Amino acid sequence: MSEKRSPYLTEETGLMDSVDDHAEFSAPSGTPVDLDRIRRAVREILAAVGEDPDREGLLETPDRVARMYAEVFSGLHTEPRQYLKKTFTQKYDEMVLVKDIRYESFCEHHLLPFTGVAHVAYIPNGKVVGLSKIPRVVDALARRPQLQERLTEELAELLMSELDAKGVAVIMHGSHSCMTIRGVHKPGATFVTSAMRGLFKERLATRSEVLALIQGKNGESL
Ligand SMILES: [Zn+2]
Repeated sequence: MSEKRSPYLTEETGLMDSVDDHAEFSAPSGTPVDLDRIRRAVREILAAVGEDPDREGLLETPDRVARMYAEVFSGLHTEPRQYLKKTFTQKYDEMVLVKDIRYESFCEHHLLPFTGVAHVAYIPNGKVVGLSKIPRVVDALARRPQLQERLTEELAELLMSELDAKGVAVIMHGSHSCMTIRGVHKPGATFVTSAMRGLFKERLATRSEVLALIQGKNGESL
């Protein structure tokens, strides 16, 4: 039936997301970030470490870094709640799990990137959200100076309160450049954080179920 291709379905499946994704995260034009201030600061850092900011290879570096910061910290100017406002009434009250959501963030202690995947599960209480919205919430929270622990908790709290869910589980894996290129120099070490709320915290069986689902191989139907 032709009604199956309604705009509603298109938006639900996230097919319409690519245009505003671009506007939101990639284009620094119109950014509230003070690009000029970053350019001056980067020149200053280059001089401070003993470089010559005026040598050819570095001439455009302050501008590139300013634009990069506008992009990677764009979450500071994005309200993650906006993605959870539009919910659908649904009687489904089993677990919904979105696995392997890639994220990129910056550790607030060193301003170095940490990257990894987030697994997000919730048990609806009559309200479900379009699945493409959860990765957007992850991005909005990740694209700011962060700590993986806080990112994990903020994500769980936000989903719990905005969706009025019966339970939320967030498990994040992260590889931190501040542990690999400096300090203890331990490449390959993965940092795992988790936040369990509601039924996932109260019921061992529910918690075990989500952990088993997360550990299942991609594409495996359980
Ligand atoms: Zn760090």
